[in-house]
This record gives sequence, structure tokens and C-alpha cells, in this order.
Amino acid sequence: MVNMKAIVITPRKKGSLRVISLPKPKIRAISNGRGVLVKVLQVGLDGTDRELIEAEYGDAPKGDDYLIIGHESFGIVEQVGKAVSELKPGDFVTATVRRPGTSIYDKIGMLDFTTDDI
Ligand SMILES: [Zn+2]
Repeated sequence: MVNMKAIVITPRKKGSLRVISLPKPKIRAISNGRGVLVKVLQVGLDGTDRELIEAEYGDAPKGDDYLIIGHESFGIVEQVGKAVSELKPGDFVTATVRRPGTSIYDKIGMLDFTTDDI
């Protein structure tokens, strides 16, 4: 099994910043062949990460007790699921962290401008 390193916190617990080792994600973990495996090349840290580290807010993904920080990233596609036609290995990508809400901005793909309460 291939492991990778991640910088994580225990949400809402000051002083919990640490490096852990995690198994490399598998493309089949995403259903319907829509998985995309990206090798992260760069990660940006910003005020959100500082606030997470200061335990001001934050939640772990369901089933985990930690949260990986660095939500602004740039990487290269390593592998795509069978149902993915929009990307191919070797493509450079950046991920969005927001999920579409209900505002007009969300509907036109400008999620960072949402007027929804987050
Ligand atoms: Zn940010």
C-alpha cells in the first residue's frame, strides 16, 4: 500500500496541527466511474486555514476525526474513472471547495460569490 503525507487538525482543538500518513486514495472509491485521482503539486494556505488551526470552527468529514488543511490546490490528473470524459491523465487541475447553493451566483458557476449562508 502506498502512503502519502497530509497536514491535518482535529477540528475545534487548539494545538492539534500535525502530519499524518494516509493510504493513497483509490479511484474506485468514487461511485459511477466518476472518480478523478489528482497528484497535488502545490497547496495554498490562507486565512481559512489559520482560523481552522486556531480552532475557531471546522468539522471533519463524516467518518473521520481529522481535517486535512490546505483547501486551495493545484495538481495533475493521474487517473480517471471510466465515466470521466472531461479530463485525462496529464491534465493540470485546480479544485473548487464550494458546492453549488441556490443563489444566482451558484447557478451561473460563480460559487465564491454566493449569497447563501455558508
Ligand atoms: Zn481559501
